[in-house]
Amino acid sequence: MRPENDQLETRFIHGSANNRSHHEPATGAVNVPIYLSSTFHQESFDTMGPYDYSRSGNPTRQVLEDTIANLEGGARGLAFSSGMAAISSAFMLLSAGDHVLVSKDVYGGTFRLITEMLGKYNIDHTFVNMTDLNETSRAIQSNTKVIYVETPSNPCLNITDIEGVAKLAKAHGCLTFVDNTFMTPLYQNPLELGADIVLHSATKFLSGHSDIIAGLAVTKNEELGERLAFIQNSFGSILGAQDSYQLIQGIKTLGARLKQSSDSALKIVSHLQEHSLVEEVYYPGLSHHAGHPIHRRQSTGAGALLSFRLADKEAAKAFVEQIRLPVFAVSLGAVESILSYPATMSHAAMPEKERAKRGITDGLLRLSVGLEHPGDLIEDIEQALQAVARTRQKVGVSL
Ligand SMILES: *Cc1c(COP(=O)(O)O)cnc(C)c1O
Repeated sequence: MRPENDQLETRFIHGSANNRSHHEPATGAVNVPIYLSSTFHQESFDTMGPYDYSRSGNPTRQVLEDTIANLEGGARGLAFSSGMAAISSAFMLLSAGDHVLVSKDVYGGTFRLITEMLGKYNIDHTFVNMTDLNETSRAIQSNTKVIYVETPSNPCLNITDIEGVAKLAKAHGCLTFVDNTFMTPLYQNPLELGADIVLHSATKFLSGHSDIIAGLAVTKNEELGERLAFIQNSFGSILGAQDSYQLIQGIKTLGARLKQSSDSALKIVSHLQEHSLVEEVYYPGLSHHAGHPIHRRQSTGAGALLSFRLADKEAAKAFVEQIRLPVFAVSLGAVESILSYPATMSHAAMPEKERAKRGITDGLLRLSVGLEHPGDLIEDIEQALQAVARTRQKVGVSL
């Protein structure tokens, strides 16, 4: 069988299509060496070797870049020092006078970049409800150059039709960028659905252990890859060799981790849905979730992230103070479950009015399900909800 026909789970382990390069030729080491070298000796006066300086290219980073390109089915993969570095670098493909159309519930850091940085370079933006293709289509301007999609979105897990948006974009000569952080290549393949660039905060599921900050970008075609590689080298926000190694190791277990976490997420969702104190559960795997049919069509899994709404800030506070297993922190996609409070964490950069428009209410909590036993997590959630019930009885709120 040819390596390009291997299933994703196999490719997570064996990386790039020419996975022979993973076996270090001099020693046979099964792990890629960490090439801690900023510069590379040139054998010849006239011709440069494959590497000259590690900002422009590093052999450890190269394996990672080839791996993600292979997993996303793109022409070129690039590794950056953070998800935001990857996203910012992709936006640098734009020029003054251009306009971008953006999913209204993008990640808080992306929102900050678009609203507070791009304007300085005279790049205009419009936020639209991208779950509505008509609204998206109407918002396209003659100078729109990029449509920026995040699906499922953060934190309410709204679903955008990637293929629908990519078709609109193509018809208007725009590029489609998709932030694929929540789904990873295991569950969603935006390039196959027509996107031009797929972006990742590899800090999350891809590395999976809450240890490194990293970003990845994959371009559909070589020409766009060349342009983004030029930006990567010019702007210089590359991923270091050590972190590249760690991310390669993280990707190897992505299949096993994300599948188990997603199974547990579904169990937790079922439990939360039954609970009288939980006003709403957001999870794209739920058949009554508004985006469920589109998500099922374009993705092969519902993922490990869910959000749920309690009555108010007091209820959320009581829950967080009582919960034992999940860490209470920003971030997601790790072996340990991570509970976060979007209003003051992931979306702190967003003004309250904007948050309210996006359903990021004071009672909303987001849970990234890790690899703990689901039974233990459910028991923990149950006892935390009992604490919420006690506080509400104390203040005389009828349940
Ligand atoms: C975390 C995150 C980012 C930003 O990535 P960093 O690695 O923190 O810079 C972008 N998009 C999404 C969806 C994220 O969750």
